Amino acid sequence: MDALPVSALRGVGPRSAAKLAAFGIETVQDVLFHLPRRYEDRTRVTPVGRLRAGDHAVIEVEVDLAEIKYGRRRSLLVRVSDGSGALLLRFFHFNRNQQQGFVRGTRLRVYGEVRRGPAMLEMVHPEYQRLAEGQALPVEERLTPVYPTSEGIHQLTLRKLSEQALQFLDGGRLPEWLPDELRAGLGLGDLRDALHYVHRPPPQADLAALEAGTHESQQRLAFEELLAHHLSLRRVRERARRLRAERLNDDGELLARFIDALPFRLTAAQQRVIDEVGRDLSQSHPMMRLVQGDVGSGKTVVAAAAAVQAIAAGCQVAVMAPTELLAEQHFSSFADWFGVLGIEVGWLSGRVKGKARRDMLERLSDGKARLVIGTHALFQEEVAFERLGLVIIDEQHRFGVHQRLALRDKGRSRQRVPHQLIMTATPIPRTLSMALYADLDSSVIDELPPGRTPVQTVAIPDSRRDQVMQRVREACREGRQAYWVCTLIEESESLQCQAAEDTAALLAEALPGLRVGLVHGRLKENEKAACMQRFKDGGIDLLVATTVIEVGVDVPNASLMIIENAERLGLAQLHQLRGRVGRGRVQSSCVLMYRGPLSPMARQRLAVLRDSNDGFEIARKDLELRGPGEVLGTRQTGMLQFRIADLVRDQGLLDRVERAAAYLTDNAPDCIQPVIRRWLGHAPRYGEV
Ligand code: ADP
Ligand code: MG
Repeated sequence: MDALPVSALRGVGPRSAAKLAAFGIETVQDVLFHLPRRYEDRTRVTPVGRLRAGDHAVIEVEVDLAEIKYGRRRSLLVRVSDGSGALLLRFFHFNRNQQQGFVRGTRLRVYGEVRRGPAMLEMVHPEYQRLAEGQALPVEERLTPVYPTSEGIHQLTLRKLSEQALQFLDGGRLPEWLPDELRAGLGLGDLRDALHYVHRPPPQADLAALEAGTHESQQRLAFEELLAHHLSLRRVRERARRLRAERLNDDGELLARFIDALPFRLTAAQQRVIDEVGRDLSQSHPMMRLVQGDVGSGKTVVAAAAAVQAIAAGCQVAVMAPTELLAEQHFSSFADWFGVLGIEVGWLSGRVKGKARRDMLERLSDGKARLVIGTHALFQEEVAFERLGLVIIDEQHRFGVHQRLALRDKGRSRQRVPHQLIMTATPIPRTLSMALYADLDSSVIDELPPGRTPVQTVAIPDSRRDQVMQRVREACREGRQAYWVCTLIEESESLQCQAAEDTAALLAEALPGLRVGLVHGRLKENEKAACMQRFKDGGIDLLVATTVIEVGVDVPNASLMIIENAERLGLAQLHQLRGRVGRGRVQSSCVLMYRGPLSPMARQRLAVLRDSNDGFEIARKDLELRGPGEVLGTRQTGMLQFRIADLVRDQGLLDRVERAAAYLTDNAPDCIQPVIRRWLGHAPRYGEV
């Protein structure tokens, strides 16, 4: 079925095949997996006298009168009746033929939505069929599916195609790959029954469940789709197990020196994760580990410890971050920590050009540089390593699986692949991690460094800006420091910076006596650093900034944060920003300023942030409110284009998906490949590793 082109069905010529292909329907199987959006009940004829506005109904009537009315819009009005009542059919688009067909006394079978018109009930552009003299037309036995469609693809076409595709099904051309025993154990029905049911439900079907996608037949399909994704990620992971990697073990002397030189003591959680990573690195197959930890839980130092171990064992390490700024922050942390160990830190981003770039590339390929930090510029073809042993990726959720695999391939040499450590500050709810990260082992840093106090958060409309400024003044008078974050939804860097400059000028004028500083992305690296240093040293009271300070900024005495336009930012980003305060012993607060009136959704989202300081909790709520595509950002959404499953709606299936995957692996390994093929057949992203 997945190989049978849709043109094998009657009525599909090259032109409609092309339209269908553009809509994502290329095979007969695609037709079957294109599920109805809703259903219409055409299983019985309703007397006109019983119709109410809002009904969708089939009626059988005679034409009383047809006339064209010239009002604001020319329309064809056809008055019809069936003895129990009368109704008006209204057409705005019609041709002469159509008009002449409505001769008085013509019998019609009509289907449409009833609405209240100026004089009587009406149907606007109903579907209709003329009945010949004495002709009795059977009603539908099944509910009528209404499919999602697009320009140039008619609803009726989709209906005819699904009708034929269902017949193919009965020819046994879509095998059931889930063994009976497994399905019985999990309470799952047969795939073919499920497809028949979803495309042509019986009249008594639970329409509410069907339209919500929670009917057991839809769940049967969603289940198999989730299972296919899960299995394919498990396969990636099993393949990785069979790959060879360098064992990165040494005597631990360098790592001990690194830890000794840190200006703080590791938390127990950090130590535990460093140990877990260390064990992985000493294996002869590549590590693929995800480290999750809330904002400020100290993931960077864990990554650095892994890098130390790899370097001590003679390998090179690449650290990649999704943005230049985040990469820069890492560069400065790593440079601090590695300087004392005598290890030089390399830097490579898209902005490194000319000779500097050539030098860096040469140092990586001849192995003089042991550690490089950068952006996705590290992916590029021209970058070659002498002996890449470990790849560290921060904020993984902003990259896709395929990019992750691509970077791993970078270091593939002499039949070895590098180890991978992936860090995310946006904690990933279990539902998502199961669907997206089943190929990874995972560690959680579930503890914050000591001395942090939870941040108190309030949401205030920007009409009360004066009050907020008052608050800043008071905090600074008491010797505390504050951030004022300007955000714009436009990603344009220059607009962002302009907004920050304007705000800084306004605040400096409105708050005389306060020392106001300004950082944004357009400043030179040394200017930014100098400003941050002054803020750190207490030479600045109020730091006005763009979201450049989202990551890596660490000033414990800063205890007040104002975020403008908070309603427009994602919860994870707000949580990240808020993580800049609450780093010292004083009570910190965060003011989310918004432009009212708030939509109910925006109100709910700000409330989530007000009520919780727990990144995991916030991520879970964000997922519920916005769906996975939004939460994970655009890069990842491609990954999440399930045909049928919905990660939020179908969370409840995931436990069983995991059990089924284990069952197949142990008892029916031959079924794994066909299931993956059926659902992900033409998805290159899960291709060979
Ligand atoms: P995140 O997990 O958000 O990436 P970072 O790694 O940036 O967090 O760490 C946040 C801050 O906490 C940094 O200033 C870091 O130096 C500091 N830090 C990390 N671990 C500890 C610790 N065990 N004790 C005290 N401070 C720590
Ligand atoms: Mg971080």
